[in-house]
Amino acid sequence: MEQVDCAYCGEKTDLPFQCNYCSDKFCSEHRLPEDHRCVKLHQIRAKRFGENKIQRRKGIGRQGFIKRVFGKLGQ
Ligand SMILES: [Zn+2]
Ligand SMILES: [Zn+2]
Repeated sequence: MEQVDCAYCGEKTDLPFQCNYCSDKFCSEHRLPEDHRCVKLHQIRAKRFGENKIQRRKGIGRQGFIKRVFGKLGQ
């Protein structure tokens, strides 16, 4: 079976997971949109937020949101 490089970390995997949103292939660690910084992630989130009514999240503020999204990448 052909091995595929994870589009995020480059690790070779026999069992790639294809992202439903960006159609790239990823290892088991990075298969979720959140885990590979999916190019469609902001669209996915916008859709989810829209469903939950974004007005309710006003108190968190933009900075808190950005920190949560990019906090993982700090190191
Ligand atoms: Zn990976
Ligand atoms: Zn993706």
